[in-house]
Amino acid sequence: MDVARLKQHFPLLNQLCALQPVTWFNPKNSPMAEGYPHVGLTREQVSDASERLKRFAPWLMQVFPETRARQGIIESDIAPLPQLQQVLDMRYGQRLEGKLWLKKDSHLPVSGSIKARGGIYEVLAHAEKLAMAAGLLNYHDDYRLLATPACRELFSQQRIAVGSTGNLGLSIGIISASLGFDVTVHMSADARAWKKQKLREHGVKVVEYQQDYGVAVAEGRRQAASDPHCFFIDDENSHNLFLGYAVAGERLKQQLAAENITVDADHPLFVYLPCGVGGGPGGVAFGLKLAFGDHVHCIFAEPTHSPCMLLGVHTGLHDGISVQDLGIDNRTAADGLAVGRASGFVGRAMERLLCAFYTLSDEEMYALLGLLQQHESLALEPSALAGMCGPWRISADPQPLAEQGISSASLAAATHLVWATGGGMVPPGPMAEYLAQARRLLNT
Ligand SMILES: *Cc1c(COP(=O)(O)O)cnc(C)c1O
Repeated sequence: MDVARLKQHFPLLNQLCALQPVTWFNPKNSPMAEGYPHVGLTREQVSDASERLKRFAPWLMQVFPETRARQGIIESDIAPLPQLQQVLDMRYGQRLEGKLWLKKDSHLPVSGSIKARGGIYEVLAHAEKLAMAAGLLNYHDDYRLLATPACRELFSQQRIAVGSTGNLGLSIGIISASLGFDVTVHMSADARAWKKQKLREHGVKVVEYQQDYGVAVAEGRRQAASDPHCFFIDDENSHNLFLGYAVAGERLKQQLAAENITVDADHPLFVYLPCGVGGGPGGVAFGLKLAFGDHVHCIFAEPTHSPCMLLGVHTGLHDGISVQDLGIDNRTAADGLAVGRASGFVGRAMERLLCAFYTLSDEEMYALLGLLQQHESLALEPSALAGMCGPWRISADPQPLAEQGISSASLAAATHLVWATGGGMVPPGPMAEYLAQARRLLNT
């Protein structure tokens, strides 16, 4: 790779290499009317995923009692952040128009992160397929029969494997083990000790790597390839993962309507999504576009040390380039986002669908973590805060938004929804460390 030439062509890469926080508005962002054929997935497939999740609701209620509050549907609340909005107006020296809201995927049942959407969906879809092929299940059955000995016996002969920085492994490991599968999680060096321990407590095999996510995935894929009874969950290429995330769009539409929040040309919705390999935020963004069309504007947030999706989309090289190719180290406290090479499938799918990308420092994520805890009594993991500075970044300069057809007048009535992607299950010890680090940075 001729990095010097690439930098000449894309001057923004100089800032990326210097680890400076950058904001990039996507010139290829296109209206919905032009369609998103490059996604390669349809509205019908997302509805189908939504229906599949409804079929599994009785089983989920039985096996995970915490899902009963929503009748077995794994979904999170939205909440306004009025105090924090004022505090951040001060911090960034700019008054945000519109209202700041939080999407609390951090508190999703079963695995406490956005991965409880895609990861769980993919395993359930796989289990359904196997049980149906074995003649043990029909669409109209009560899916609680998946907990019967015949189904568990079937699943116990099948293996599932996945590579992860932590949260995907947590979600896939827990759900697979509870169905009775023999499951192995290949964990990158970034993965937190408590996540590995929790998995082992659930009877999941955990293989640890000294290298980053890319190596853990490649090794998991290699080991699974030699085993015909092993289903490898491919975070970089899986359509089912993506569809599981996309179901969020329609559900959010209902939640906003229940709060009397209008979304239309005069009341735009901005959604800020922390991005790792891309499947989670990509799937959610696709679902949001299906639900809100051109009135939703999706923005991806990444650590300055792991800007893989910005790099791939900006250069158009997608998974043909990694942050390490530029000499960027992919070392970040935001373990959920510690990915050096983005999914090519998701990058291409996002090319015309996203409003903007930006990067922020680990220090800023920690500071936001502390401020959220102080002012809204909510403690999350660092990755989940990547979206929190987004509203101020995006509205700092109205010109790029105007070029995308978003008027200054509409900004006064905007809703800014920050997707809090994880942290609800962080144990007290590690959480105290996060908060101590935040206090050091905030000098409080
Ligand atoms: C996985 C994860 C993300 C990003 O999802 P990708 O599919 O990897 O892009 C963001 N935040 C948290 C907490 C995560 O675990």
